[in-house]
Amino acid sequence: MATIKIDVAKCDRCKTCVEICPASIFELHNKELNVVNSQDCIECYACEEECPQSAIQVII
Ligand code: SF4
Ligand code: SF4
Repeated sequence: MATIKIDVAKCDRCKTCVEICPASIFELHNKELNVVNSQDCIECYACEEECPQSAIQVII
């Protein structure tokens, strides 16, 4: 199972990851980005590649 790490110091809550993740792993609530259901991650690396701040790390 992949571990999704977000560097909160780098993240500017742009929502790109929320919109592109095919498994709906990211949720933005009250300006806080949360990782939910990480067991559903299909390890496509789209979030890591598309995050404008390079704030996401997918670790397998
Ligand atoms: S794509 Fe990157 S900067 Fe944007 S909300 Fe997600 S983690 Fe934060
Ligand atoms: S690797 Fe793919 S499925 Fe996993 S969190 Fe990132 S975008 Fe979503």
